[in-house]
Amino acid sequence: MKALYVLGPNQLKFCETEEPAFNEEQVLIKVQYSMMCSSDVKLIRGDFHGLKLPLIPGHEWSGVVAKAPEKYQYLVGKKVVVDILFPCQQCEQCRKSRRNLCENMNEIGVNLNGGYAEYVVADVKNVIPIPDSISLKDACLIEPLAVVYNAIQRVGIRPAEKVAILGSGVIGLLLVSLAKQMGATQIQVMDYIGDRLKIASSLGATATYDMNQGNLVEDYKKGWMPLPDVVFDATGSADAFNTALEIVKPGGRIGYIGYSAHEKVNIEPSMIMLKSITIYGVLSPTETWLQAIELIENKVIDTEKLITHEFPLEEYETVLNLMKERKDGIIRSVFKF
Ligand SMILES: [Zn+2]
Ligand SMILES: [Zn+2]
Repeated sequence: MKALYVLGPNQLKFCETEEPAFNEEQVLIKVQYSMMCSSDVKLIRGDFHGLKLPLIPGHEWSGVVAKAPEKYQYLVGKKVVVDILFPCQQCEQCRKSRRNLCENMNEIGVNLNGGYAEYVVADVKNVIPIPDSISLKDACLIEPLAVVYNAIQRVGIRPAEKVAILGSGVIGLLLVSLAKQMGATQIQVMDYIGDRLKIASSLGATATYDMNQGNLVEDYKKGWMPLPDVVFDATGSADAFNTALEIVKPGGRIGYIGYSAHEKVNIEPSMIMLKSITIYGVLSPTETWLQAIELIENKVIDTEKLITHEFPLEEYETVLNLMKERKDGIIRSVFKF
């Protein structure tokens, strides 16, 4: 099968390799679409927590079950996505139902091979069939949407609250759609990329701010918009956390959902006390896959605006460059197999 391996920092190898073997509790899935996440860009340069190399990356993908053991034959031919977390079920976190915090986590696309290949092996318990009405291309959005659903559950948005979203990549844009569903009366979105802000507006953002155009914190002070009750940091850049601390309304909440790898930043912790801010870390999809499927099936998410590009796996360098440079209107690109 064709596969793209990460061997070391910025060391990629596209090659023919053996189809992976599966055991009695696993199935072999033929990948149809696999999406490059911005966290994959960090992973490829070697900046990622828990990374084990060599690795076939890819955690946002979909496929069809190709082969299965006798007792799971009924799954063959089914359209599926795969819950990427394989927690141990035995550590304290697992036993306390916090499986995304498992101390011995195995995770597809981090230390288990993922969807940048023609085939992936997965435990049957992680395989989630999807309805026929969802295209396998759109199904690549189920994983990031499950993460965003987790964020909304953790941070909570109440009707009539004002929400700010820093960053309008796919996570930010999915947050816009769900914040609207939750009854937020203001959805303010900030980014450096004007095209993305236009998409944010079309999805329900009530105000957008181009970070190239001025000083956001100063403009809030001058009354650009009312301060948000909730700020989501979906930038993937550590600097933005200071902006979140500055702009959130006293008594407000911050959801940290963008992954900034090992980047560090100076903050003024006393602001958290003086403004009595609550900060939520949002890690991974949790038990939110079915909700994400339901939302896509019912067209709550405008998938067409989010998956903007499509390439064969061979053209991985092109996709990587587009993602790094955020060019050509890219939000997300899929590899089509
Ligand atoms: Zn992702
Ligand atoms: Zn565990």
